[in-house]
Amino acid sequence: MRARARLPLTPIGPGRTVLVGATLIDGAASAPLPDAEVAVLDGVVDYAGPRRRGGVEDGGRVVDLSGSWMLPGFIDVHVHLAMVAAGGEQQRAWFAEEAVLEVAAQLRRTVEAGVTTARDLDGLTPGYRLAVGNGTAVGPRLHLAIAMLSPTGGHADPFLPNGSLPAWAARAGMPSPALVDTDDDIVRTVRRLISMGADAIKVSTSGGAGSPTDEPDDVGITEQQVRLIRRLGDERGGVPVTAHALTDAAARAAVQGGAASIEHGYDLSDATIELMLERGTVLVPTLSTLLREISTHIDPGRRRERERMRERGMDSVRRAIAAGVPVALGTDAGVVPHGANLRELAWLVEAGLTPIDAIRAGTSAGAELLGIGDRVGTVAAGKMADLVVTDADPLASVGRLAEPGAVRMVVQSGRAVVDLDRRLG
Ligand SMILES: [Zn+2]
Repeated sequence: MRARARLPLTPIGPGRTVLVGATLIDGAASAPLPDAEVAVLDGVVDYAGPRRRGGVEDGGRVVDLSGSWMLPGFIDVHVHLAMVAAGGEQQRAWFAEEAVLEVAAQLRRTVEAGVTTARDLDGLTPGYRLAVGNGTAVGPRLHLAIAMLSPTGGHADPFLPNGSLPAWAARAGMPSPALVDTDDDIVRTVRRLISMGADAIKVSTSGGAGSPTDEPDDVGITEQQVRLIRRLGDERGGVPVTAHALTDAAARAAVQGGAASIEHGYDLSDATIELMLERGTVLVPTLSTLLREISTHIDPGRRRERERMRERGMDSVRRAIAAGVPVALGTDAGVVPHGANLRELAWLVEAGLTPIDAIRAGTSAGAELLGIGDRVGTVAAGKMADLVVTDADPLASVGRLAEPGAVRMVVQSGRAVVDLDRRLG
C-alpha cells in the first residue's frame, strides 16, 4: 500500500487505442511475437497478444505499426538525476530555479530515451516524484532513495578535508548528508528517510571511486548495520536495501545483511556469487559507468587504477551472469550523461546476456526489483501502458536502441511522450 502511494501511476488519456502489426517483445516471453495487437484503454493495456482478426470491437482508434518493434517502457534502477554536467563554479552561481529546471531537463531527456520508470539512488527529493506523478513535469515515474548512507569519511561524505561542502551537495529540500557511525545514527537516519518517502535505502558497504576522502577498498556500512537497516525497512512495509559495493567483502556484507541488490559488484568472488544465487540478490552492474571513456586528463596512476577496475569489473560481472545471478539494468546516469540509458543493453550483451535477456533486465527484472512488477515491466493485460516503439530490430542489434531517432514512440500510462511519426497525434 505504501509503495503504491509513493509511485503515482495515474492512467492518462481516455478512449481505446489499438496498436497493430508491430513485432512485440513483451518483457517476459523468451521469443518475440510478430504481427501483434496491443489495445490500450484509459492508460492501461487491456489486450496484448496475436492480432485479432475481424476488426476492433467497440470502436477505438487503430494505429498500424507494421515494420516496427514494440517493447515495454524501460526501467533504469540506478540513476542520479540531480547530477548534471554543469561545473561546480557554475552551479554555485545558479538561482534555485535553474537547478530545479536543470533536473527537469534531465527527467525529460531520460523518458524520451525510452525509460518510463527510474530509481534515483541519491540526490533527488520526493518533490520530483510528485511533480512527475501529477503531470507537472515530464519524466520517468520515480522510485527514490533520496540519500545514501555511509560512515563519516565514507562514500556518502561530501565534505572536503577543509570542511566545506561542494555546491552539488547543498541542494534545497535534501536532508543533511546521511553520515552514520553508530546504530543510533542509523535508526534515526533510516526512519527519517522513510518518513520523507524513501522507496529504498541506499547504503555504501565499500568506499567509492570518486568521493573526496575515501578509496574503493575502504570499509563502509558493515554487515551488522545492513541487517539493522533491513529490519528498519521491514518494519515500514518492506523498504528494500540496495548496496553500492566495489569489493568482494563489501558485496558479501550486503548480501549476508539482507540487501535486495548489489550496485556495481566489480570484484565478486565465486563464493559471493553462489551466495547471491542462494538469496536471490539482484546485480545492477552499471556497465555504462564502468566502461565509459577514461578521460585523457587524469594522471597516469589514476588511469591505470581505472583500467584495472574495468578489467576486474567486467570479469566479475561476466562470471555472475554466467552463473545465473539475476540482473537489472542500471546506468548510474549522472556519472555518465543522462538520456543514453539504453546503451546499457549492449554492454549487458557484451557481458553475456542474450539481447532478449538484456531487454528483460531493463524491463520486467527492474520492475520486480522495485516491487512494482504487478503494474509495469511487461506488455500485458492489466499493466500500465508503458511502451517503446522502434524501427531498429532490437534482437539483431540491441545497441541501436540508444541511437538518436531509433526510438520512434514512447508511451507512458497511455500518453505519448515521444511520437516522432505523429501516429498517435
Ligand atoms: Zn550511483
